[in-house]
Amino acid sequence: MIIKDILESTRTISCEFFPPKTADGMDAVFRAVDRLKVFRPDFVSVTYGAGGSTRGFTEEIVTRIKTEAELEVMAHQTCVGQNKEDVHNSLARLEAAGIENVIALRGDLPQGDHADAPVKSGFSHASDLIGHIRDNFEFGVAAACYPEGHTESVDLDSDIEHTKLRVNQGADFLITQLFYDNKYFFDFVDRAIKSGINVPIIPGVLPILSTGQVRRFTTLCGAKIPPALDQQLEKFGEDDDEVRELGVEYATRQVRELWDAGVPGVHFYVLNRSYSVSQILTSLGLKGHCVQPED
Ligand SMILES: Cc1cc2nc3c(=O)[nH]c(=O)nc-3n(C[C@H](O)[C@H](O)[C@H](O)COP(=O)(O)OP(=O)(O)OC[C@H]3O[C@@H](n4cnc5c(N)ncnc54)[C@H](O)[C@@H]3O)c2cc1C
Repeated sequence: MIIKDILESTRTISCEFFPPKTADGMDAVFRAVDRLKVFRPDFVSVTYGAGGSTRGFTEEIVTRIKTEAELEVMAHQTCVGQNKEDVHNSLARLEAAGIENVIALRGDLPQGDHADAPVKSGFSHASDLIGHIRDNFEFGVAAACYPEGHTESVDLDSDIEHTKLRVNQGADFLITQLFYDNKYFFDFVDRAIKSGINVPIIPGVLPILSTGQVRRFTTLCGAKIPPALDQQLEKFGEDDDEVRELGVEYATRQVRELWDAGVPGVHFYVLNRSYSVSQILTSLGLKGHCVQPED
């Protein structure tokens, strides 16, 4: 089913997984999918390794989730560092496998001096890829957006203009980058509406799993850790169990506030680990049942 149609009838809960590099990692994905399936997510998505090593796995995992777990799926498709034909063929394979939804992204630029990589691909930006998908395929299409601004954006106004471009080219809805202060999300939605963006904007939430990881991720994507949260992370340091519980508690409060404010859905960055998201969904009483920690 096209996710746009799901969003017209319900507020969605969705979960994002990533393609692992090993067979053990693959087992972990399907274990996490099984454990989260009881919460009846409205769709799940699987990221695409723009860097290359795990590209082919996205197609395999979304196809298996759709057929074996019988959940609606959305494949991530990036275009950086690939030629147009390869990107087109990847989309054609998804279509042939019965996948109905994609989120179209540029992907992060490779480190170093490859600034022309996206141009070589024939798609400079996500909006070019979205236009290509609309002209050639029947997928439901999502795109990314950045409450605190994308790291390459010169200012928030141009960031919104580029977000609008993704929507004008055909994105049905947007999913945000992670953030830890809901104020950024609410301000972004206000700016988006003022600029004429009128598609659902779904907040992306990453429950913190470890101090090192959240510091790395936020540095990479330019999201800020609020001082009070940072102090707690400092206190628990490398104690991953304490940090994980802090992550559950923090994200539960974050999601409760977002949900009460009427967001069209919540997208969880699961990182192939079901425990935190299952705890959050259980305590919010949104869908499904509690499951036990798996690790
Ligand atoms: C929900 C979500 C899912 C993601 N999934 C993946 C994934 O599966 N794999 C992966 O590798 N990465 C993923 N990413 C990360 C994403 O690829 C990076 O953030 C990437 O750097 C930008 O992708 P984009 O699609 O926003 O690109 P773009 O829309 O191309 O934007 C990139 C930058 O260019 C600017 N820009 C856009 N259009 C123009 C224009 N016409 N002229 C000048 N500047 C412009 C934007 O403001 C922005 O600063 C995801 C991010 C999010 C939020």
